Amino acid sequence: MIAVLKNTATKEQIGSLVGWFESQGVKVHESQGDFCTVLGLIGDTTKIDIEMLQSLDIVEQVTRVSEPFKKANRKFHPEDTVVDCGGVKIGGGNFAVMAGPCSVESREQIIETAKRVQDAGATMLRGGAFKPRTSPYDFQGLKEKGIELLLEAKAATGLPIVTEIMDSDHLQYFKDIDLIQVGARNMQNFELLKALGKCNKPILLKRGLSATIKELLMSAEYIMSEGNENIILCERGIRTYETYTRNTFDLSAIPVLHELSHLPVVADPSHATGKRSLIEPMSMAAVAAGADALEIEVHPNPSKALSDGAQSLTPDMFVDVMKKINAVRSII
Ligand code: PEP
Ligand code: MN
Repeated sequence: MIAVLKNTATKEQIGSLVGWFESQGVKVHESQGDFCTVLGLIGDTTKIDIEMLQSLDIVEQVTRVSEPFKKANRKFHPEDTVVDCGGVKIGGGNFAVMAGPCSVESREQIIETAKRVQDAGATMLRGGAFKPRTSPYDFQGLKEKGIELLLEAKAATGLPIVTEIMDSDHLQYFKDIDLIQVGARNMQNFELLKALGKCNKPILLKRGLSATIKELLMSAEYIMSEGNENIILCERGIRTYETYTRNTFDLSAIPVLHELSHLPVVADPSHATGKRSLIEPMSMAAVAAGADALEIEVHPNPSKALSDGAQSLTPDMFVDVMKKINAVRSII
């Protein structure tokens, strides 16, 4: 249930109403906008008399929220959330580009890539240290060493870092990471989500391979319900019957997520398509559809990449893609 309060409501009036809701056993999520205050009520609201609430002087409107996601719901928080990732803001009109290799492979590789993507206009560096691979025989990532190399690349360029976590036991290595990625395969690892809800780091939550938009939002809700509201959602393609592309890029998920939620939305055209030639058109499409950021794989020598070479751009190709992204941004 949400109660929209009139802008004439004083702090004391709001405080006593919140106190009354809490005495009725419901949790209150308060969102202070420019023109009104929205109180989102979470829990068993059946005991709350809507008519009585509506009759209060300070109450503008009361509605029941039927969706199971509450804190992630735009009805609870009408304004766009802006997430600060080590000084780079994402959401609410702030646009970012995260670029870098699928996996961190060596000091030279990550530092060279960081410099090249930064020169081209990327604002964050991506790179996987803990890698979720389909085969246990494939490269599993440099793990802690990979995190150290990412931090060296950050020291060399100033670019904030986004990298994936696979196990909450590894949180100790993520202290200096600016944005923690939950990969598609872990979108419904609820224990991991709950642990991330207790840390105060921004989280990039990727849509599961076969997850619906509602399931993605319910996973965001898991993190938020534990107290961490710094979430960025990511559309990275879903599995369909189409086999020409690695996944099917669900472009419409971008505006749908913006309609349903206040959380920023990132698009990942690399995993969504699996093909280098499709990154440019799909990046432009994602920006036109309202993506708040892009996550793009770039490798200095894609044919030698230890993972996802086929979808990785060369640094030179990334320069051209950035030009197209900026061109689309300048007209929307
Ligand atoms: C990645 O970003 O390298 C990755 C493994 O992504 P996803 O979880 O979307 O497959
Ligand atoms: Mn990858």
